[in-house]
Amino acid sequence: MPVRLPFRPRRDTYPPDLWTKCPGCSEMLFNKQLEKTLRVCPHCGHHFRISAKSRIEQLVDNGSFVERDDDLQPVDPLGFVDLKSYPDRLVAAQLATGLRDAAVWGLATMGGKPVSMCVMDFGFIGGSMGAVVGEKVARAGEAALAERIPLIIVSSSGGARMQEGTYSLMQLVKTMGVVERVRAACVPFISVLTDPTTGGVFASFAVVGDVNIAEPNALIKFAGDRVSAGTIGDELPAGYARAEFWFSHGFVDRIVTRAHLRDEIIALLGFLAAPPVAGVGEPVGGTGSRPRSLLSALTGVLVGENGDSRNGDSRNGGRGGETNGSRGEATRG
Ligand SMILES: [Zn+2]
Repeated sequence: MPVRLPFRPRRDTYPPDLWTKCPGCSEMLFNKQLEKTLRVCPHCGHHFRISAKSRIEQLVDNGSFVERDDDLQPVDPLGFVDLKSYPDRLVAAQLATGLRDAAVWGLATMGGKPVSMCVMDFGFIGGSMGAVVGEKVARAGEAALAERIPLIIVSSSGGARMQEGTYSLMQLVKTMGVVERVRAACVPFISVLTDPTTGGVFASFAVVGDVNIAEPNALIKFAGDRVSAGTIGDELPAGYARAEFWFSHGFVDRIVTRAHLRDEIIALLGFLAAPPVAGVGEPVGGTGSRPRSLLSALTGVLVGENGDSRNGDSRNGGRGGETNGSRGEATRG
């Protein structure tokens, strides 16, 4: 029988506030060290999920973030009860995260340039999108439109919030309506997809940025594997739901490690400036000066008009069909 010292914890039972076990390489990581590496494993590069607050601190110029609408509070329109009542879940999530709902938006500067930024927090009921999250995404877009400054949305979400039923599904339309007006007004939109970006968030604004950036190995997909396999009537390719797969198929434009994310976005902001127009916030129509995905622009240069049709598909037809095809699944995300 092995001898165990009574006062020395086993390797797996280190105090959780001191050590974190990396799911990528099983190394025990000292939390203080992990914070210094922006919560990226120094051994295998695994990107841990981070809170909205940490994300904002990592991205924006020091102290420049001014939060808006922090008093928006979710309600329980359906009187929804599963294992717990929805209000109980909300209170538990609010106590755990210090947030009122799963998104934070505000105005900030990056590299000295003003931006409108909305960041989702997976720690709040899986970053799910209910009416408040949808509203914050929409207001971030409206502010970008009004100020003609770039819109940056960092997604981290399991999808629509089933406790709000149809109200949460309506957020897909609402957010896309604003994003479409941002697009029409030639205001840049950079979408950052982090682990995970799935369900109704994937099926709406997260994948229609002028530039879609993903963190390495981020889980990005619409529905569960079984549903997806059933839809195409075939086995899914290996690694299909990871950032690298989407990158290799042109859905994601860049895969950027967390350490380089801020610099990458600042560099992109140098390319993607909204042209000044008369009548602030009014759509100007046409696509001549519209900033588009780097990949699509490159394709356009290489193959001419094919690039245009592909860009249009990715924004409207292609994704819309996918949403309609398995809409019921969004509520489970
Ligand atoms: Zn690791």
